[in-house]
Amino acid sequence: MRVAVISDIHSNLPALEAVLAEVDREAPDELWCLGDIVGYGPHPNECVDLTRGRTALSLCGNHDLAVLGTIDIGDFTGDAGDAARWTAGELGEPQAAWLRELSPAAVRPGVELYHGSPRDPVWDYVLTEQVALISILETTAPIVLVGHSHVALGLGWDGAELSGGLAPERTEIDLANRRWLLNPGSVGQPRDGDPRAAWLLIDEGAGRASFRRVPYPIEATQAAMRERGLPDALAARLAHGI
Ligand code: ZN
Repeated sequence: MRVAVISDIHSNLPALEAVLAEVDREAPDELWCLGDIVGYGPHPNECVDLTRGRTALSLCGNHDLAVLGTIDIGDFTGDAGDAARWTAGELGEPQAAWLRELSPAAVRPGVELYHGSPRDPVWDYVLTEQVALISILETTAPIVLVGHSHVALGLGWDGAELSGGLAPERTEIDLANRRWLLNPGSVGQPRDGDPRAAWLLIDEGAGRASFRRVPYPIEATQAAMRERGLPDALAARLAHGI
C-alpha cells in the first residue's frame, strides 16, 4: 500500500490545496492526517471540509481539541490563544461535529499514529533523540507516525542504535531492517526553516518513505489572516518557516 501522510494543516487552505495537488499526482491508495487541522490560520471550515473529504484516516490535535472546548482553550497563551478563540467563533457546527469524532491516536496494520507522541498523544513533542527513542520503545509497530512539532523527522532504531534525524526535502528512507519514527512536517505552518508545505509518501511495498515539500502562495494566506484580524506575528512567520 502507498500512503500519503500530512499533518498540522492549521487552517491554511492554499498550503493544503498545493499539497493535495502533489498527492493527486502520486495517486496513493490512502491519505492520512495526523491532526491540528485548525488553529493559527484563516480557513478553518474549508480545511476541515477538504480534510474530511479526502482522508481515509484523520487524528485530532491539541489545537482542534482546544477549539472544540475538549481541552481548556486557556492552555494556549498569546497569539495561539487569540487564534484559537477566533477559530472557535468561526467553526461551523458540521465541521465541529466531525472534529469531535476524531482521536489523537490510531493504529493501522504495521503503523501506530499519534498527534504528539505515544507518551502523550495530545501534548508531547518529539524533538529530541531521547524522546524519539522513548516513543519507539513504547510502541511495537514497524512505523510510528507523529506530528505536532511541525519539524520533518525520520529516526530509525535497529535495536541498538538510533540513526537519522531532520528530514529535509528529498530525504529518502529505506524502511527495511529498522523500526522508524517519522514526522511528515507541517502543511500549514512549517517550523524547520523551510517555508514550503510538507508531506510524506510511504510506499510499504517498496519499503521506502519519501519526504516532500511543495511551494504555495504564502502571501495569499498572510493576506487572508490580516483581513480576519489574526495576529500579525503568525502571518509573518509563515514566510520564514519558523
Ligand atoms: Zn500543530
